Amino acid sequence: MGTILITGGSRGIGAAIVKRAVADGHSVLFTYHSDRAAADRLVAECDGRAQATRCDVADPAQIAAVFALADSLKARTGEPLTGLVNNAGITGGFARVADLPIDTLRGVLATNVEGCFVAAQLAVQRLSTARGGAGGSIVNLSSQAARLGGGGEWVHYAASKAAVDALTIGLAREVGREGIRVNAVSPGLIDTDIHATAGDPDRVHRLADGVPLGRPGAAVEVADAVAWLLSDRSSYVTGTIIPVSGGR
Ligand code: NDP
Repeated sequence: MGTILITGGSRGIGAAIVKRAVADGHSVLFTYHSDRAAADRLVAECDGRAQATRCDVADPAQIAAVFALADSLKARTGEPLTGLVNNAGITGGFARVADLPIDTLRGVLATNVEGCFVAAQLAVQRLSTARGGAGGSIVNLSSQAARLGGGGEWVHYAASKAAVDALTIGLAREVGREGIRVNAVSPGLIDTDIHATAGDPDRVHRLADGVPLGRPGAAVEVADAVAWLLSDRSSYVTGTIIPVSGGR
């Protein structure tokens, strides 16, 4: 079926996407950043269908090295790259705009925007039918914060995810005729470690009061939407941003 490259696959939503992609019959190459032990545990769970490599997506050279690894896997196994999931992302912590250190802003943009952009660029170079590829699907992890603005705690994060939305829509228009679909999944409140940066362990459940379905989402519920976008069942879907937000 081909190989799916998933960034930030060691835990949270990324780990759920890795497991779901393996269950759907894909080979998976995923990246971790700091948590080698979690990545190793996940590889062991995936029965030889997934492998992990370290990558800081804020560093374009490290992303290029991951794609070079995907190229060598293709040469060895014959399985081409068929999809990319740009999942790695950070909040940069919580701060009002007036108090945000410029280095925090730069770090969030380098990880969430530049990392996503560079990985998409390298994927297009391999997937494009105009360049000898077989086409494929790119899925970016956005956030409902892109629409809501993140006011009062993380405008910097919201702005980075709004850039991901624009990249998704624009790239979809650019490469549709080259056999590549580009979509985003836009989660609302999902119960993962990302909320730990708030320093408030009850944050997720407190915020769930504002969710029409009355609870935070689970990582697997986001992975289901990503799996659909990676599959041929979404073959006429491109340039969309699909909320997985419990109605929020
Ligand atoms: P987590 O914090 O649980 O996991 C983040 C993942 O990204 C980890 O695998 C981590 O690797 C990796 N990562 C972090 N920094 C980098 C980096 N510089 N380079 C490469 N990988 C990195 O986050 P979630 O699972 O909650 O979030 C996944 C995606 O979904 C993110 O893009 C996030 O913005 C988005 N999202 C999440 C929401 C939520 O409520 N949880 C809501 C809306 C969007 P390691 O563990 O090895 O450090």
